[in-house]
Amino acid sequence: MALREFKCVDCGESFKSGQWLGCRTIVTRRHTVQSRTFYSQFDNYHIVLRADYPIQEPGGKIMHVPALSAQFRGGTFITNDAEIQEFLDGGTERGELQTAEQYVDGRLTDKQKMQRKDSRIAEQSRLIQDLERKNVELAGGVTESGGGDAERSEGRRGRGRSAG
Ligand SMILES: [Zn+2]
Repeated sequence: MALREFKCVDCGESFKSGQWLGCRTIVTRRHTVQSRTFYSQFDNYHIVLRADYPIQEPGGKIMHVPALSAQFRGGTFITNDAEIQEFLDGGTERGELQTAEQYVDGRLTDKQKMQRKDSRIAEQSRLIQDLERKNVELAGGVTESGGGDAERSEGRRGRGRSAG
């Protein structure tokens, strides 16, 4: 797979995946790209890309590159950092993160689930009432228990229904 190419909105340079630093020829300065939003099913999803590490400037000076992490709020995270974007794209591809559509669907489904649950409960109590009514009818119709009476009971129930 070819390395992805990004366009820095700060210095205007194009750079490839991995060349995250060096904006405006400053070795520790990160390039900036067009902001993008990422989505998670978890409101406060937090992921650390990597810990901080030291880097040596051409002059020999040791600089400190800060840790990279993504902290979602309300299931969304906006970043203009190419490295984080590429990393989170991988998460979306692996299904660890959501697409915008999945996010919207997921958030809507919570409400819809409640509505569906409510209507299911209503439907179930209707069914239970229905069954109870039928049981009462059956109990009324099949008072004479006994193996040989099955046919007769059927007949009685039939008559009962046509009468009512
Ligand atoms: Zn740049």
